[in-house]
Amino acid sequence: MAVPLLDLKPQYQTMKEEILAEIAAVCESQQFIGGPKIEKLEKEIAEYCQAGYGCGVTSGSDALIIALMVSGIGAGDEVITTPFTFFATVGAIARVGATPVFADIDPVTFNIDPAKIEEKITPRTKAIIPVHLFGQAADMDRVIAIAKAHDLMVLEDCAQAIGAECNGKRVGSIGDFGAISFFPSKNLGCFGDGGMVVTNDPEKAALLKCFRNHGQGSTYVHKYVGGNFRLDALQAAILSIKLRYLDSWSDARVANGKCYDKLFAEYGVKGVTTPRVASYANRMIYNQYSILVADGKRDALRAFLGERQIGCNVYYPLPLHLQECFAYLGGKEGDYPVSEKVAKEILALPIYPESTDDQRREVVSAIAEFMNR
Ligand SMILES: *Cc1c(COP(=O)(O)O)cnc(C)c1O
Repeated sequence: MAVPLLDLKPQYQTMKEEILAEIAAVCESQQFIGGPKIEKLEKEIAEYCQAGYGCGVTSGSDALIIALMVSGIGAGDEVITTPFTFFATVGAIARVGATPVFADIDPVTFNIDPAKIEEKITPRTKAIIPVHLFGQAADMDRVIAIAKAHDLMVLEDCAQAIGAECNGKRVGSIGDFGAISFFPSKNLGCFGDGGMVVTNDPEKAALLKCFRNHGQGSTYVHKYVGGNFRLDALQAAILSIKLRYLDSWSDARVANGKCYDKLFAEYGVKGVTTPRVASYANRMIYNQYSILVADGKRDALRAFLGERQIGCNVYYPLPLHLQECFAYLGGKEGDYPVSEKVAKEILALPIYPESTDDQRREVVSAIAEFMNR
């Protein structure tokens, strides 16, 4: 039985009529930029994230960039983040002209280790970007305490974690800003690229809306140099429909994760560490189910699963301090040993909501066959 890593088609089939009707309504209105669909979605997402305001933008990457821009972060400033994340987190810092500074990750959660942050703070440090990787909240209480003590802005990268919670608080509402991605493979995906910034501060929300429209105050009068960071009305209309299903999808991912945990125990799979959830991360939404594969067997296991037509992928094989484009930062092998070790051992398995227990049994029995030989 072939098992895809992700299949978006069954989900679409369950809501096809609703979505096509909404697309038709936007087409009839011919209002593609701004308008009621955008405003509705911004209210809905802000409420879902327990934040005051939402600002629809072009992508999760641009959500990070615009939050840094409105905070006045740029040349000469340093921003502390994790070296074990999708490129966009660190790319955003470089794109605004600031300097990325890394703090290594916690080996259990793969999120930034608060104990490693303080030693990286200098007089030039302006912000911290914790990433809620794979759907699990970073240790926000400790990140916020450090930020408060040093007067730093906190931008949460929630691209993989919409609806995840840290000590009962929704991610995105805890720091100054939350950046959300609607890339199709995220828990809430649109039909192309899209994103949102959430914040509790009305002044920050107003600045975001100004910056996403070329920093325009009144028509053709520009107070700031912003950009075109606008979310499409078509995407907003689709997302408002999909948002109604998001909790059921995230609950299904949680159940699928539990099923994997049971199967790995049942098969007595050797050399595999299943995902561990920290006590403060009380709602982990499993954007990925990523195992650690010991004894240097990850790449061979990945090839073996490929032969069996079982989808899997490595998020992420090369930590950011070792990327060629960041060589100017002077990072080298050995600087962030936890990130480097995890990058060599991590492997994501199929966890999408509609995947079945039979498929998971196929996945785990194949892994057991390989690892227990
Ligand atoms: C997906 C992702 C982004 C970027 O989102 P896009 O919508 O693809 O631009 C940023 N950070 C993380 C951690 C992501 O997973």
